[in-house]
Amino acid sequence: MKRALCLILICMFLLAGCQHQSRQTVFAMDTVMDLQIWGADSEKAMEEVRALLAELERAWSAQDEASDLSALNRGEQIPDRTLLDQVQALSERTGGAFDPRLYALTSLWGFGTQAHRVPARQELEQALQTRLWDLGGAVKGYAGQQAAERLQTMDVSHAILNLGGNIQTYGNKPDGTPWSIAIQAPAGGDPLGVVSVVGTMSVVTSGDYQRYFEKDGVRYHHILDPETGMPAQSGLSSVTVICRDGLTADCLSTALFVMGLEEGTQFWRQSDDFEAVFVAADGRIYATEGAALSGCEYEVIAREN
Ligand code: AMP
Ligand code: MG
Repeated sequence: MKRALCLILICMFLLAGCQHQSRQTVFAMDTVMDLQIWGADSEKAMEEVRALLAELERAWSAQDEASDLSALNRGEQIPDRTLLDQVQALSERTGGAFDPRLYALTSLWGFGTQAHRVPARQELEQALQTRLWDLGGAVKGYAGQQAAERLQTMDVSHAILNLGGNIQTYGNKPDGTPWSIAIQAPAGGDPLGVVSVVGTMSVVTSGDYQRYFEKDGVRYHHILDPETGMPAQSGLSSVTVICRDGLTADCLSTALFVMGLEEGTQFWRQSDDFEAVFVAADGRIYATEGAALSGCEYEVIAREN
């Protein structure tokens, strides 16, 4: 009996060791992505995930004139509006802090094209009235979520997809322990801390250090305040959202950045589907009580104040 048990344990150990693994670094959605998948179908799954990323980019890139989103922005009909409806609902949930129709504004600042410049007040006002779709703040989270759904249909035991800082996990880590997701320090250097997540989860960070340009000593970043048209000055450097739903995580990280710590805290207290880590511009860190953050000092945001 004892010998049989030993044999089973040794076999399980060997099988875990021999598990197929596939890892690729790809460039998609204007960012570098690192994809790691474990399981008998890992290679096939890798191809599927890459095809999915290309498909979503073709459909939802505002910069690509051949995309469905560009067709929509030209006033044409598109085959499927489901994603737009979901994003619209999330935008309403955030009171408009996440606004998926700022493409005229992001283009004016040159964030899609690298032709950066500081627009005049009048130009900002005009761009705010021009309601063109831009899903740049949502589509990577959505892609992670869609990828996890595809993995579920294959012989894949675990995966971690780093879609340019948007992390999607699938299953638990190969050794069965939770995933440790490093949070980038806005100032660069070593990670600021680590969040621990169990199973299939999305961990998405929005930060003022991710895309920006400097002009006359002022830093202008890519997360725009839909009320002013200017880069959001909410006192934060980054927000990380941990959520089962990737689309929600991506929309909310952008929205909470715009809202700032106080409003973002109130928003979290009224919600029950995510946790968050806020990094203030002064370097202080605040994490909601379920965020499972470690490796740094921080203030816990409790459910009740
Ligand atoms: P993220 O990095 O997910 O926070 O998304 C930032 C990107 O979303 C920007 O590069 C813009 O394309 C777009 N964006 C900027 N400000 C907003 C906003 N307030 N709401 C929605 N999308 C935005
Ligand atoms: Mg986002």
